[in-house]
Parts: sequence; C-alpha cells; structure tokens
Amino acid sequence: MKRHFLLSALLLLSTAILAVSAQNARKHELPKLPYALGALAPKMSQETLEYHYGKHYKAYIDNLNTLIQDTPYAGMSLEEIVVKAPNGPIFNNAGQSLNHQLFFLGMSPAPQSQPSGALAEAINKEFGSFDRFKAQFARAAAGIFGSGWAWLATDKAGNLRITTEANAGNPLRYGLIPLMGLDVWEHSYYIDYRNRRAEYITNYWDLVDWKVVGQRYDRR
Ligand code: MN
Repeated sequence: MKRHFLLSALLLLSTAILAVSAQNARKHELPKLPYALGALAPKMSQETLEYHYGKHYKAYIDNLNTLIQDTPYAGMSLEEIVVKAPNGPIFNNAGQSLNHQLFFLGMSPAPQSQPSGALAEAINKEFGSFDRFKAQFARAAAGIFGSGWAWLATDKAGNLRITTEANAGNPLRYGLIPLMGLDVWEHSYYIDYRNRRAEYITNYWDLVDWKVVGQRYDRR
C-alpha cells in the first residue's frame, strides 16, 4: 500500500515536471504562409521565397529557439522579446522573426490593393493621399544604407509614421506598433532584381495586402 502511494506520487511529480519543461521550451515556429511559394511570382519568385522564407526566416527562428533556452526569454512572445532584450543576438533573431512574420503575412497574390476604412482616413490625414504616402515610403526604403527595414507604424491613438530601421530594427522597440514592413536586406531582392532595389520596392506595392494592414491598424 505504501509502495503504491509512492509510485503514484512519483508519477504525479514527473507529469508536473514534464508539463513545466514543455511550457519553458515553448518553441517559436515558422508560420505557414496563406499562399504557395510560387504564388507571388513574377514580382517575387518561388526561388526568392524558397530562400527568403524557407532558409533566412527559418534560420532566425531556429537561432532564436537555441539562444533563448534556459534564459528569462524562453517563455516570452516575440513582441515581448523585441521590447525587452538588449541589443545583441537574442534581440537580432527575435526582431528578424517578428519582422519577417509581419512582412510575409502582409502579402498576398490577390491583395486588397488600397487601404480602406480607418487606415485609409489616417493615411489621407497624415500624408495627403495614398499616392503621396507610397512615394514617401518608397523614398525612405530606397534611402536605407545597407540592410534594414522601412515601416509604416502607428501610435496607440492612431497617428501614423514612416520609420526606417537598420538590421533587425522594429518600431515596437520605441513604443510604436508596426503595421507594414518592407525588407530591404539584399537577400529579399537580389535573386529577382539583383541590385535594382527601387524596382523591387515599386513591385512590392502589387503584393501588399491592405486588408491585413488595416486589420493591424484596427487592433492597435
Ligand atoms: Mn529578410
């Protein structure tokens, strides 16, 4: 009878330990895309997606999962790590994991081509028109020296801003909410456009899904 009790207690304890370690080891995962790898071609080729989504983006997530093991970041969401981690490898890989999530899930082979609703109003108010916003954003993205990101971001009140970031930067770092991010690391365009970043930016407008961007704005 005593032995039976001990066994039951051991079983309970090991189940609890397994549950706790499973929680601590919560892994960040490469999200499934809502479109096929070749669906954005010819503006963004299947080969680019195979490398950019399948290798670069995946490597950031794999690296992050390795780096955060047994650290206070192990149980945190990507957003939380991006806000809290000091500059360094954990921030870089969390930033790039979040940045690529926003980038890839914000595109579609059949996108809503223009903003609508509250976001459309905010864009008109801040930039004068959608076309003027696009011109200003494209200039900002083209002007980034080296690797980085151009963002459309908002504050909680709904005021929009265009920001540019080096490397893994994200406006969440200083309290703004990222709505749409354009990757201007060479790995995002070199297969399809070689050094022609401006052409890559022009064609990006045909892939951005303003329905998704608008939903992010509404959820801010
Ligand atoms: Mn990238």
